[in-house]
Amino acid sequence: METNAAKLNFNDTQKAFAYKNDFQLKKANWLFGMMQYGWLVKIGTRLTPWAIRLGLPIKSLIKHTIFEQFVGGESLAETKPVVHLLNKFKVDVILDYGVEGGEHDEAKYNKEAEQFIRVIEFAGSQANIPFISIKITGLVSSMLLNKLSISNPGAGKYPAGVEMNLASLSAPETQAWQNLISRMHDICRMAEKSGIGVMIDAEESWLQDPIDYVADLMMAQYNQNNFIVFNTIQLYRTDRLSFLKRSIDNAKQKGYLPAMKLVRGAYMEKERKRALEMGYPSPIQADKSKTDKDYNEAIAFCQSLDYPISIIIASHNEQSTLLAAAKSQVHTNPKLEIHFSQLYGMSDNLTFNLSDHGFRVSKYLPFGPVNEVIPYLMRRAQENSSVSGQTGRELFLIRQELGNRKKGS
Ligand SMILES: Cc1cc2nc3c(=O)[nH]c(=O)nc-3n(C[C@H](O)[C@H](O)[C@H](O)COP(=O)(O)OP(=O)(O)OC[C@H]3O[C@@H](n4cnc5c(N)ncnc54)[C@H](O)[C@@H]3O)c2cc1C
Repeated sequence: METNAAKLNFNDTQKAFAYKNDFQLKKANWLFGMMQYGWLVKIGTRLTPWAIRLGLPIKSLIKHTIFEQFVGGESLAETKPVVHLLNKFKVDVILDYGVEGGEHDEAKYNKEAEQFIRVIEFAGSQANIPFISIKITGLVSSMLLNKLSISNPGAGKYPAGVEMNLASLSAPETQAWQNLISRMHDICRMAEKSGIGVMIDAEESWLQDPIDYVADLMMAQYNQNNFIVFNTIQLYRTDRLSFLKRSIDNAKQKGYLPAMKLVRGAYMEKERKRALEMGYPSPIQADKSKTDKDYNEAIAFCQSLDYPISIIIASHNEQSTLLAAAKSQVHTNPKLEIHFSQLYGMSDNLTFNLSDHGFRVSKYLPFGPVNEVIPYLMRRAQENSSVSGQTGRELFLIRQELGNRKKGS
């Protein structure tokens, strides 16, 4: 199907919400309405993880509200109907097994790696799951990642193409690091065999250096002929546009295919708070317009290259999405693969209108037990508690569609 950016209309709520019946749409209206109360979200995001840890009986409440809106299910079997529903609307899925963080023993990390391999097998058996996503913090100790970030020159600014400095690690830590690399090879090998892309999520800046290192290492091996491994670039960081350029240069020099997911970034408050408390300059842009500028420049840069590259525009921002869609038609880099993506439960007006006009677009769809996806859900609640910008728009569009359906009935 021909793509058509000129005809894209992100206000078409009929297309945006065609996959939801009236009851589901009213429920979304209620949920987004509740999330507009900043004080409620503040209390909720503090108390919920604590209540889950204490085993208080709130699981069912969470499952039928915020979980249902943003997560596919607790298991692959529960998630399957959502995957099929999206396929009916020509929407792909980035399947995300929602484990992250936590200090565990090696046996637990091995189990998580096995689960990722099962997720890849499942993805390979479905028509519309070209990618899975993983968080490195689900596969290794965050304390180790932090130590590696700090012990490398220019912490937070890992120079693409440079070896990790492992000299500061104890023998068990060195073993744990090697175990991570071996788990990643197992995952990427299976992905290569199944033709499934693996997106490595970007996390907090104080863990990110070794994550970038692992991403580059895997890209160099598995992206020889196809786009299998993707790194994630958070443009809310002041140093990431130049990091993106260096990573692409590094790929060119070493002769592999760079693949990048472009995001603004999900940990802004946490980043700023830590920098303030520990007295180092915040790695985050001074204001939103600077983040937007770097984000749009990153897209334009990838579009202007004369080298094969795959990028995922992972954003709910209408302007960035339109810009990328419009440029993808007129431009420049014939070897560019471009794919759009929004989180499941957010910005349906972008997803379903993009797919309707022939663009490759997916929903980032997490699944996992309720207690495992709590950090993800708390980030979504915080992200959607602002009345300004895109998030207030979510509620506006849902209400507009509810109004239209009422008039039409
Ligand atoms: C498919 C997909 C995958 C994702 N993967 C990751 C990932 O791996 N790692 C990750 O961190 N996030 C990830 N995200 C989350 C993503 O970072 C947030 O959804 C995103 O930041 C929200 O921004 P937006 O592009 O949708 O646009 P907008 O809503 O226009 O922008 C909001 C964002 O702008 C930035 N911002 C807001 N205010 C300021 C300010 N005052 N100063 C500077 N910057 C500001 C923040 O990053 C904020 O989140 C992913 C999102 C998607 C859709």
